[in-house]
Amino acid sequence: MEFLINHWLDITTTLLGLAYILLEYKASIWMWAVGAVMQILGIVLYYQKGVYADCGMEFYYLAMTAYGYWRWKTLSNKEGVKEELPITHIPMPLALLWTAIFLVLWFAIWWLLTSFTDSTVPIADSFTTALSLVGIWALAHKYLEQWFVWIAVDVVTCVLYFHKDIPFKASLYGLYVVIAVFGYLRWQRMMKQTSIPKSAVLSILLCLCCTYAQAQDFDKWFQDKTLRLDYTFSGDNRNQYISLDEMKQSNGWFGRRTNLDSLLLLGGGQLCMKDSETGQVIYRHSFSTLFQEWQTTEEATRVQKSFENVFLVPFPKRPVEITITLTDTHNKVKGEMMHRVDPQDILIRPLSSDKSTKWEYLEKSGDSREKIDVVFVAEGYLKREKKVFMRDCRECIEALKAHEPFKSMSDRFNFVAVMLPSQEQGVSIPHKNIWKETLLSSSFDTFYSNRYLTTLRLKKLHDVLAGIPYEHIIILANTDNYGGGGIYNSYLMSAAHNNQNKPVVVHEFGHSFAGLADEYYYDDQYETMYPADTEPWEPNLTTLVDFKSKWADMMDEGVQVPTTPSGNNVYTEVGVYEGGGYQSKGVYRPSQECRMKVNQAPVFCPVCERAIRRMIDYQTK
Ligand SMILES: [Zn+2]
Repeated sequence: MEFLINHWLDITTTLLGLAYILLEYKASIWMWAVGAVMQILGIVLYYQKGVYADCGMEFYYLAMTAYGYWRWKTLSNKEGVKEELPITHIPMPLALLWTAIFLVLWFAIWWLLTSFTDSTVPIADSFTTALSLVGIWALAHKYLEQWFVWIAVDVVTCVLYFHKDIPFKASLYGLYVVIAVFGYLRWQRMMKQTSIPKSAVLSILLCLCCTYAQAQDFDKWFQDKTLRLDYTFSGDNRNQYISLDEMKQSNGWFGRRTNLDSLLLLGGGQLCMKDSETGQVIYRHSFSTLFQEWQTTEEATRVQKSFENVFLVPFPKRPVEITITLTDTHNKVKGEMMHRVDPQDILIRPLSSDKSTKWEYLEKSGDSREKIDVVFVAEGYLKREKKVFMRDCRECIEALKAHEPFKSMSDRFNFVAVMLPSQEQGVSIPHKNIWKETLLSSSFDTFYSNRYLTTLRLKKLHDVLAGIPYEHIIILANTDNYGGGGIYNSYLMSAAHNNQNKPVVVHEFGHSFAGLADEYYYDDQYETMYPADTEPWEPNLTTLVDFKSKWADMMDEGVQVPTTPSGNNVYTEVGVYEGGGYQSKGVYRPSQECRMKVNQAPVFCPVCERAIRRMIDYQTK
């Protein structure tokens, strides 16, 4: 008993030390809590003994513990879904800097020990102290290599204690060495298993955006080339299969060079590119697909179908892992597929850029590598109708620029026209039994909806655009039949000769460019596109689950939620109006009327306008 009383501090610190390294082995965030207790005990102990230098050191470790906890914890989201900081390799430049700091510290501490103390082992002592000082920083960043530090520290300390004839402590450090070696192996395995979060929810990704917002060096990871990934998405209302079709390459990368590893919107699906060696995310992209829309239709309950999908990504310099994820209306992962891409792969087909496709700038505000490149593609125009097509393109640009924020931010855009003739004039209108041979085989009656005009031939679409600077696609259909369609980060299509074309093209661009949702609704719509327990990812709708992440900051004080439509200032008064996203109940829109609700609206509502502005900034700043 007396032994216990005399040595309680020794015993406690030993047990805590063991708990600490075991939790570290498991990469558990609780290790920081145990660390804090150890350091506070250390502060008390050293202070009582009057060892002020050591006492000061403990303060440093305590601060690093708080920092480490914060770093590891940062990615946990508030819904309680654990998405802690992933284990990664320490980047090379940082490793060099880190080593330099260590050497300086080692020398400084050795000098202090030899000059001011009677230390018998100044070299070893200063070595372990300096290494521990920088090691805890590497641990706070969850770098795999931090284990080497502890292995070195523990080996030296073990030898030191044997040398000083303290066998109990020496064996303890021997044990630490063993745990540290296993810890290294375990972390290495964990690192390989880390992939895109299984339960991705909007807030995690938004959080990632903030954490990883630091500018990535495009040239460090990518060549000035485009990697085109062709996939087939197939299945029915319950199942989805993602298969790689073919990989292609073309010269020049015209997509965004900013915010490479972050997402502004979750979309209906995500693409994540990781450097194979370090596991670092180097590019992210989000999108929506016709396939997922089709999955919500009645047809999907009785037949399996497949859809083409094409994604353009910057061409990596080193082997990468690409993960394609499809999420459902609860923002939960429904389907996922990962594959490796080796940039040296001889089967990545080069797309020649000197083919016959004629294209020209309609408006050029700057280098296509810095601007957002929008391409107009002709569908159902005859060879002799080039002038008509060019005039139609200009009308659409005028329509876009009549709306804020496009008006004041038009210098961020380039517009390109691609006039490729179709065999026949017009497009297919199945409900009128009209079928046409056109460039993209597009048609109305998509999913049996008369006015839904789309093309399913995405590979053909991108084939004709290869080598042209383009990021966003506007397909103009040579028809006066009313309709259109727009899919986020895929394309939009509009009936160029319908008298509603101007508002429609702007509305659909809201979908395809900025990921805006439809703000209109039907009184008899029972299908729930937006479940009540999930905040939609689209910036202009809310279910009030996480309204703060939407336009709460744009509401005037005292505005009631939900807001009763006043009939005044219908385009500008920001509130929370019930009805939107095809549902009359449970979904709320930001204003009474908006370009995303009715064709008569001359403007986007303030919330949509801000969302577009953010998207423009995200792609160019
Ligand atoms: Zn709106």
